[in-house]
Amino acid sequence: MDRVRQSAPQLAQIIPYDPKYIPAEAYMSANENPHDVDEDVRRAIERRIKNVELNRYPDPLANELRDAIAEANGLDRDWVLIGNGGDELLFDTALAWGGPGRTFLNMPPTFSVYEANARLLNTTVLEVPRDRENEYAIDEERVLELMSGPTSEVDFTIISNPNNPTGLMTSFEFLEKLLASTDALVMVDEAYFEFSRQTMRPHLEAHKNLVILRTFSKAFSLAGVRLGYILAHPEVIDEYKKVRQPYSVDAVSQAIGSVVYEHRSTFVPAIDEIISERDRMYEALRVIPGVMPYKSQSNWLLFKMTDAGQAWEALYEAGVLVRDFSSAPGLEGTLRVSVGTKEQNDRFLLCLRDFALRKQED
Ligand code: PMP
Repeated sequence: MDRVRQSAPQLAQIIPYDPKYIPAEAYMSANENPHDVDEDVRRAIERRIKNVELNRYPDPLANELRDAIAEANGLDRDWVLIGNGGDELLFDTALAWGGPGRTFLNMPPTFSVYEANARLLNTTVLEVPRDRENEYAIDEERVLELMSGPTSEVDFTIISNPNNPTGLMTSFEFLEKLLASTDALVMVDEAYFEFSRQTMRPHLEAHKNLVILRTFSKAFSLAGVRLGYILAHPEVIDEYKKVRQPYSVDAVSQAIGSVVYEHRSTFVPAIDEIISERDRMYEALRVIPGVMPYKSQSNWLLFKMTDAGQAWEALYEAGVLVRDFSSAPGLEGTLRVSVGTKEQNDRFLLCLRDFALRKQED
């Protein structure tokens, strides 16, 4: 056959996710940890992987890692579910709480995958845009208005906390108020919580509708391995079990995750460095003419500048890859830089300063 039937109609509107990860010398675009897993942990991983039975299916629920995460969070294992990266669990959220006739409330600009998943599954998407003039704060009143009470049409929402790509946290006071006023599922995406060091975990038992998402891809340097997890009430976890792919987390990833989680305290010095570098970069960006950084509680900085698109080009020509949001809705004129090593951060700052000064002279 020289043709194929059309795919599902909702795909016509969908553009495949493109992380715009192109070759560079300094990768500062994907909010990864700039340091790979250290040698000691790597050797422990190698020893553990040697014993993995590759001919056998993995434990579908990754119970060894699940138990370790549960214990560290003061929970039983049935409050934890491991996924193939946070991304899989985000998709599972849309599968289990979205779909035709269901409604997702989005607060853009935020992680674009939330909306893409909802649309892919024919979920109605309601939008409450964040306030650009007020550090991209959520319009709390409007969200409460749309989500309060049992007759609200909203079935689920996801709040990135801190919000990627804008940087700041939503207050726990508001989140508690929201959780108490709605029976919709509220996912708090804490992919970057090791950098903000603030978590909704203490509120988990009080709210059956709260799901907390975490990942191994950022603080734990495992973006290449694909591991994430959720913490939620066991009845909620059971709904996720109905939609998930049974063997989505392979045996090798489970083994790597277990070793890394055992050694998680060894990642703290690098996390401390990222936090202090972030604050140093914020101050340095503030004094570059025409550049306006947003405050961040994570491992990146969003900044606004004139000629942001050209600045992205100049950085890329100098070997530095940052994320270009210069024409993204609600983010026009901004770029996002992930905190790198000290050397990468200096290189980025030097190059951006040069560009800004040249522009000033023009
Ligand atoms: N949530 C947010 C806010 C993110 O930025 C990311 C990664 N870009 C994820 C979830 C998913 O991360 P992963 O699939 O690597 O665990």
